[in-house]
Order: sequence, then C-alpha cells, then structure tokens
Amino acid sequence: MVKSIALTWLSKTDLSNLNSGEGAGNLTELKVYDNGRKPYVSGQAVRRALFDTIQRSHPERFRCSPETPCGDVENCWSCDLRGFLAPEEKKGGTRRWSPVKASPALGQVAKEIVSDLLTRHSDITKENRESKDMRLAHVQMMDNIYKLNLVIDTENVGRVQEPTIVTEGKKQRVTGWHTTVQVSEEERILRLHALMDGVYHLSGFAKQARQLSSLAPECLILSLKQTYNQRGLSTMDLDAENRMDPEGLMLFLKEAKHLGDRICVGWAPGIVSNEKEIRKIFEQYQVPVLSVFEAIEWAKTEMGKERV
Ligand SMILES: [Zn+2]
Repeated sequence: MVKSIALTWLSKTDLSNLNSGEGAGNLTELKVYDNGRKPYVSGQAVRRALFDTIQRSHPERFRCSPETPCGDVENCWSCDLRGFLAPEEKKGGTRRWSPVKASPALGQVAKEIVSDLLTRHSDITKENRESKDMRLAHVQMMDNIYKLNLVIDTENVGRVQEPTIVTEGKKQRVTGWHTTVQVSEEERILRLHALMDGVYHLSGFAKQARQLSSLAPECLILSLKQTYNQRGLSTMDLDAENRMDPEGLMLFLKEAKHLGDRICVGWAPGIVSNEKEIRKIFEQYQVPVLSVFEAIEWAKTEMGKERV
C-alpha cells in the first residue's frame, strides 16, 4: 500500500504577487525572504489555492466552508482534506489534522522588487480630497521560479482514528487507536485523484484579475512511497545559476530505490539550466521522464494498482 505521495515541483511565473493576504493601507507588499531578495507564497495560500482548484471540479463534494466546518470527514471533502478546528463536538471530532501538507512556495531567483502603481478610475467626482487619494495603490511584484512541496498522507485520506481511552479508577490512559471513519477504497482513490488533478490545474492565487499567473508544475518529481516521510523536499532547490544539485538528486534517487519508492518525473525544458546533466541522472536510475500531465496520470494509475 502506498503510504504517502510526495510532489516537489518548479513553477515559473511572470511578474506577480500571489499571496492571498493584503498589505497595510494602499500598499500590497510582497512576502520576501533571504534578506528581501526572493519572494515566497505562504503554505496557507498554496493550500487554499489547491483546495479551491479541487472544489471548482467537484463542487458537490465540498459541503461546508472552512470558516464553519461541518466535521463530516466521511462525506465532506473540505473537512477531510483541509482538516478543521470546530468550536463544538462534530461527527468527526472537534479537530482534524489535514492529510495534505504543503510547504510555502519559495522563489529561487534573487531579483529586484517591481512596484506597480494602480489607479482606480471613477466617474464620480468626489469633493473629499481624502477619498481621491484612495484611488491610488501600489502592488509589489516579482517574476520568479518557485519551488513547492506537497506531501499527502494517503492512509489518512478519508480516515479518522481516535485514541482508545480506558478508565481505571480516577485515572485514564490511552491503550491504542481505533478507526471511527473509513471511506471505501474507491472513494479514497477518487479523493487522491482529485488532489493529483488539483496540482496539475493549480490556480486561483491572489490578484489574478491584474496579474494572471499560476504555480502549477512545470518540472515535477513525484514519488509514491512505502513509508510516510517527507524526504527529498530539497531535491529541486536551484542555485544562483538555476542549476539543480546533481549530487543531491543522485543521493535521493539511490535512497528511494532502497526504500522501494516509485518515482516519475514530469519535465518542461528551459526551467533548470543544467537539465542535460539532470536528465542523464534520471535515465541512470530508470526514472521515466514524461510531460507533467503524463506524470500525474502515471501516479493516478500506479496508486490504483495498490488497491487492497
Ligand atoms: Zn465539511
């Protein structure tokens, strides 16, 4: 049985500010790290965009909004996949850790911030000077290559486990775990397929009306793992010349082989500068290099073979 699916990918964007948060006043700040030289998009914004993308394709499966969770993990994909913290006791308990973990999207290329002045046109002439000023706004932007990671805890999709508590006199102790919700294997596979498709179609980040851009993968390494782990997440980090580290990649593939993980790559040319060298390493470790679409389809088929 596949215990986890790890996806790590690179995505090239145009000038954009993909954070869902708003800056103070009339300035929308870009989130930056590495002494302000590189942009990032928070893991929360990545997760929100992913679930919104899935919801677009399966609106009937999302039975509540994240602000007021229904807690029905068996029937509601929002509560199952996003996880929730409910104020009162619900069917699936009061909280759920999401089986879908996302890293922030980290810009890999050090660049200058571009500030875009937005003007809002108004047909109404306002007497008040203050409101006139409100029609100006700045948005900070950067173009970049972002690296993203997603790890799916496949066993816990559609499943809730609760501690078995035994009371002895005044003391309570946990003696083990029991399953309170377990969807059918078919339903679980359906949810995993929806997650895979969500990555392929990933869209819906902030400020899309003026700066259409997405973080959908262009170069993607996909692993179906026999254990739950989060190894290999730095494999696609780029250096100052947009090179992937060949040594690190080799080590990752070597270990994955020992662990019995199945790996597949989706690749678009022109993102990684040393791609010739990198593709040779994939070849050496018999990792199929496909298009991103084919790699996603590969994962959907391969995980289906794991049906118990
Ligand atoms: Zn719900």
